[in-house]
Order: sequence, then structure tokens, then C-alpha cells
Amino acid sequence: MGGRLRSRTHVLRAVLTLLTSMAAAAVTACGPGDRGGVATTADLLILVGDLYDGSGGDPLPGDVAVTDGRISFVGGTSSGMQALDTIEAAGLMVTPGFIDMHSHAELDEPYGRDGRPFVYQGITTVVVGLDGGGPPEVAERLAGWSANGLGVNALTFVGHGAVRRQVLGMDDREPSAAELEEMKGLVRSAMEQGAFGLSTGLFYVPGFYATTEEVIELNRVSGEYGGIYDTHDRDLGASYQGIGYLASIREGIRIGEEAGTPVIFSHFNAQGAANYGRAPLGAELVDRARERGVEVMAAQHVYTATQSSLSAYAIPRWASAGGQEAMLARFQHADTVALLDRQTMEMLEIRGGAAKILFADPRPELNGKTLADVAAERGASVPATVRDILEDGNAAVMNLDLYDIENTRYLATKSWMMTCTDGRTPQPDQVITHPRVFGAFTRKLRQFVLDEGIITMPFAIRSMTGLAADFLGLPDRGYLREGMWADVAVLDREGIRDMATFDDPQRISEGTVHVLVNGEFAVRDGAMTGAMPGRPIRRDGATVRAN
Ligand SMILES: [Zn+2]
Repeated sequence: MGGRLRSRTHVLRAVLTLLTSMAAAAVTACGPGDRGGVATTADLLILVGDLYDGSGGDPLPGDVAVTDGRISFVGGTSSGMQALDTIEAAGLMVTPGFIDMHSHAELDEPYGRDGRPFVYQGITTVVVGLDGGGPPEVAERLAGWSANGLGVNALTFVGHGAVRRQVLGMDDREPSAAELEEMKGLVRSAMEQGAFGLSTGLFYVPGFYATTEEVIELNRVSGEYGGIYDTHDRDLGASYQGIGYLASIREGIRIGEEAGTPVIFSHFNAQGAANYGRAPLGAELVDRARERGVEVMAAQHVYTATQSSLSAYAIPRWASAGGQEAMLARFQHADTVALLDRQTMEMLEIRGGAAKILFADPRPELNGKTLADVAAERGASVPATVRDILEDGNAAVMNLDLYDIENTRYLATKSWMMTCTDGRTPQPDQVITHPRVFGAFTRKLRQFVLDEGIITMPFAIRSMTGLAADFLGLPDRGYLREGMWADVAVLDREGIRDMATFDDPQRISEGTVHVLVNGEFAVRDGAMTGAMPGRPIRRDGATVRAN
């Protein structure tokens, strides 16, 4: 399996490299990059910045020119070149725009389309449809993004959970042969419409109800199109009656290896106090798989709190089977409730208790309070409070101190570690949300590079740019190179600072001076311009199938 995967990846890479060099050659031949003695013209010149090109190499001083949305020149000096617009970048870092490998940017909502929290961190492309949630109607979604406008570029995965729900509802059972075929058909259709691969949320319902074999079968279909397997795996370490942190990583690798696809572990880390210090064991499994030719990668943010839902954190999976109505019916039976409440307490124990569960839900009566606070306020037990809240629907919660910062520091040093926000755009009247939405990228630079020196600046920038573009197979993004789309961030190296905190989570990051998306300013002089220069990115199935 490893050999087949390696050769497929190799051929794909060769084609992508060829396409990139053709694009670069086309631009050079067309003029703006061709400085053969005649003054040439660009739309924009960025002058004398420190260029971090996305490859991980040391920065070099130089200029960047942009023409027709693409980078038309990168080099030591653009003297002689004329431009309609110029920005001075002396003393500033010029980097490729950042790629958020795991995002919950609400691009389908009017309040989320401009990507504001993300753009202010230098992010120019977001990856969505993860955790098993991406709807299979990919073409419709991309068309909606085009029609309504996007502040950032976006691409999506098709979600195993969404596909399973469409065919099996929330049932806790295996699919019949016919149902499995129907699920495969949905994956196939989504891939043909431009999805980048299959995502799972095996920690969540209904993904949790799937066997490993079911996921492998569906992932094979994605693999026929060159798809990637992206997983919120079954047990990051804090799953109730779970398979364990290491078994979960083994399962994720197996799903990719047997289906012949690359694998990315979304927000890779080890959860729960029992796993403090154990990240090297998980990383070892990734390293070994890579050694035998499986392309396994991961993404991270550097916060110690997670965000998910109250039901996912406090309701055992058997009690969610069949969906909301079935769960509420179970709340009516005294015997069931006795068992449920005991298990809710055991689940919360793994997570550090009810005082560590902080509501990020838009509902004002919950927002910003801990589960312990709400239970005390209501004079009810913690499990009764959980049931009471869930009567009105699931609630967004954070889990404070679930990650060990030492684990996160260790993982940041791995060559296969990319970066993500895992952030969901807050609703307009929502006060408390996870600070990662507004600060994940800038915090990684501030804390791990500038304050702690865990990783170097070029290495961190690569984890946010070229590494991600290579993995996704984006031939014309992620690097400062001629011919690439001009997704560019200009940052104040010493001034980069995440400002979002748990008490005041919507403060935008500092140090983001300019951000270009497809050659247009999304941020100029530290302020959003209101432009909507982002584009949907479709995986080109035809190109991949040609291999
Ligand atoms: Zn997730």
C-alpha cells in the first residue's frame, strides 16, 4: 500500500510542479516579470521587506510585484519597475498568506463571509467542511460563495458524518450493502464537484457509530480522485470509554494507508490530564507511518482549551443514538436518567470537572459562564443542568486546560505540523467565544517563536504556508514565487501579538499591517478594506484522474 501511495503522490507532485512552472513561465513571457531593459509596469510593488518565501529558508531582503492578481516578480530589487501602487515594507516581514488547515469560518452566513477574525491574523485561505461535517452538495456551496462573496479563499472537504446522516440518520448501526453504496455515491459526487477529500469526526455522533472498515471503504472513493483523509479522530485522549489516544492515531493512519490516501490529523494533540507529557508517543506513530511511505500530517493551535459541544462532552454516545428526539425521550425514563447522570459525571471528570466547561454558546443566559456556575445558579445538579440545557438544543462549550502546553510545544517542532485556528466565527451578538478564532496564528508566532523560541520564524511561517499548500496540492499558493496568486501578508515582526483572551476574545491581533488576497488588499495599514477578494478553490478532479 505504501508503495502505491508513494508513486501516486510522486506523479501528482510532478504534474503540479510542471503546472506551476508553466504558470510562472507564462507570466514571465507576458511582460511584468520580464525586465529586459524596458521599464515594466505592475499593479502593486511591495518594497524592501524581509521576504519569507514559505519554504522555511532564511528571509532575504527584497521586493514583490503584483500584476493581475498574481505575483509577477520576487527578488532583490525591482528598480526600474513602475507600479500603479506602492507600499513600503522596510523592517517588515513579507510572507505568503496563511492557510488555516482547520477552520469553522462561517462563510455561508452574512456575518461570516468577510472572514474578519481570520484575515486580521494574515490568513488568506481557510479549509472547511471538517470534523465530518462538510455537506456533500459541494458545487452548490462553492457557487454560493462565489455569488455572495468571500473575504478569504476557501476550500472544503466532504464530511463522513454528513453523508452518514443523510443515509442512516443518527442510527447506531452498520449500513446495509445498499446503504454503503449510497454513501459511496455521495462521496463520489462530492469529489467530482471539487471536494478536497473526506473528513471524519469519529469522536462525534454519528461518525462515532461507524466502524473503521466503513470509513476505509468511503475513503477509497475519495482516494480515486486524489483526495485527502482529514480526521478529528475517535479518541484524542478524553473520550469516554474510548479506544485510547494511541489506538485512535493508529486507526486514523490505517484508514489512510489502506485506502491509499494522505492523512491529516486535525488539531493534533493529546487530551486530558492522563495524557500530559504523552505527545511524543503519538508523534512517534506518525513518524513511523511516514517512514514507510504514508503521507501523514497534522495541524495545531497553541491554546490549552478546546471548543466543541455540551452533548459531545457530557452525553455518552448511546444516549444520542437516533437524534435529538430519541435523546429527549430517554430523559423521561428514571432508570435511564440514573445511568446517564452517573456517566455524565464520569465524562466530565476526564475533562477536569464542570468548572472547566465554559459556555461559548450565543445564548446570553449561558455565554461566558461555566457549567458549574450555571448549575449553581439553577440550584440543580450538574447532570440535571446538562439535560435541561440540551432540551433547548446543543450548546457550544470550551473545555479549559484540556491540553498540556508541553505536549503542544513538542508537537510544534515536528516537520509535519501545520497550523489551524479550529475557530468558529461568532454570531453578531455573541460576546464570549474561543480566543483562537481571533488569535491562533498570531499567538503561535508570538508565543512559540518570539517569546519562547521553541521554533524559528521561517519554520513557523512554513507551517502556515508552503507546507499546507504542498499537502493540499495547491500549485499556485503558499509561496512567494512568480506566477503564484498574490496571497501575501505584511507583518510587523516585533509587533505581532494576539490580543484575544478568554475574557475579551474578540480583540483583533496586532502587527498585521497589510494582507493581500488574490492581489487585492483585504487589510491595508492595519484596517480591513471591505473588499471581498477571496475565491472558492475547487480540487480539480480531472487533473488528478489523469494520473
Ligand atoms: Zn474537530
